[in-house]
Amino acid sequence: MARRVLILGAGFGGLEIATLLSRAAAEEIEVTLIDKGEGFVFGFSKLDVLFGRAGVADVRIPYAQIDKPGVRVVRETITAIDPEARRVTTDSGSYESEAMVIALGADYDFDATPGLAAGGHEFYSVPGAERAAAAVAAFDRGDAVIGVCGAPFKCPPAPSECALLLDDELRERGVRDACTISFVIPFGSPVPPSPETSAALEGEFAERGIGLITGRRVAALDSDRSVAVLDDGRELGFDLFLGVPKHRAPDVVIASGATEDGFVPVDPATLRTRFAGVYAVGDVATAGVPKAGVFAEGAGRIVAQALLAELLGAEPPGRHLGQGTCYIEFGSGRVASVDIDFLSGPERTGTFNAPSPAQAAEKEEFGASRRQLWFGA
Ligand SMILES: Cc1cc2nc3c(=O)[nH]c(=O)nc-3n(C[C@H](O)[C@H](O)[C@H](O)COP(=O)(O)OP(=O)(O)OC[C@H]3O[C@@H](n4cnc5c(N)ncnc54)[C@H](O)[C@@H]3O)c2cc1C
Repeated sequence: MARRVLILGAGFGGLEIATLLSRAAAEEIEVTLIDKGEGFVFGFSKLDVLFGRAGVADVRIPYAQIDKPGVRVVRETITAIDPEARRVTTDSGSYESEAMVIALGADYDFDATPGLAAGGHEFYSVPGAERAAAAVAAFDRGDAVIGVCGAPFKCPPAPSECALLLDDELRERGVRDACTISFVIPFGSPVPPSPETSAALEGEFAERGIGLITGRRVAALDSDRSVAVLDDGRELGFDLFLGVPKHRAPDVVIASGATEDGFVPVDPATLRTRFAGVYAVGDVATAGVPKAGVFAEGAGRIVAQALLAELLGAEPPGRHLGQGTCYIEFGSGRVASVDIDFLSGPERTGTFNAPSPAQAAEKEEFGASRRQLWFGA
């Protein structure tokens, strides 16, 4: 009889695991992949939506395209998770399995930043980016603030990319001189594990007249006065606020009792949770790596191999090394990247690759290859 695996969430992590299990053991392992969404959207596509380069329909890849032997894709909302019993309840039924992977990503805690929902915009969700796109298009004078409301947050370079792309957009429209751009980030530098990357971004901000405030987060928005209040009490007036909301695991994961400090703790080497047969990958987990798709899929590869070992006696995986490349939009069509290595050695490292046509081509290939692998399209 086939062994049963439940994968909760069809994002970077869940899609990678389902694909690898189907390839290796479609006859022996029956995968149920549950997601509430209609389709998958790459994180970086939200910037395309924000700056009006693409509509949501252009960037959403429908889950209906997935056709993998041994994988059943279920479009349902998970309403309860019992990690002890490896059982989930959805809005349409319930599922049990021998092994379960929690890959539900991170949600946004709007209440943690008073005034954000009413007075500002966020570009980290698809509907948020869509709404903010209209505000960006209408902005042609005054003060823009790009502000991070809490760490950890997904794709640490993304708000820096947003600042540079906003600068591009305003220059293209000939209104840059009528606008200011300020960027608030709680880290000491834009990309702390890579001083070279941070220096290159800081140089770019200085050249373009983008104000950088490090070591501070946006604590609240006072929408009556159109002011962003930082965690040291400083105030920044804004006509356009583009925020990165505070992150935490989805409510259903928190209610399951699997989280600590908002996320699911795992053994960074194996991605195992404290519950037998239950793994967590990607943004939902605290795994000693940044919250980015490339790390979610890297963790997914280890878990897929661990499941093949656990259920079918295959060779067990090596430890999770926390390595991956993040691409960074530098504006003016240029793309750089940073090679991150968080877990293989004693030091966390980030090696910068300056903007080049080769980096831009690699980013294209990164998206196209995942699309092909996961969706066959
Ligand atoms: C602006 C921006 C730019 C980014 N750029 C990059 C980049 O260049 N490179 C990179 O590697 N990463 C990038 N990221 C980060 C990347 O998108 C995330 O880190 C990645 O998607 C995490 O993968 P995941 O599998 O953990 O979760 P997700 O991809 O978020 O998937 C989680 C899935 O769970 C589903 N789900 C949640 N709750 C439920 C429920 N109750 N029931 C059913 N389904 C549910 C969701 O619908 C979702 O499909 C970017 C993010 C943003 C916001």
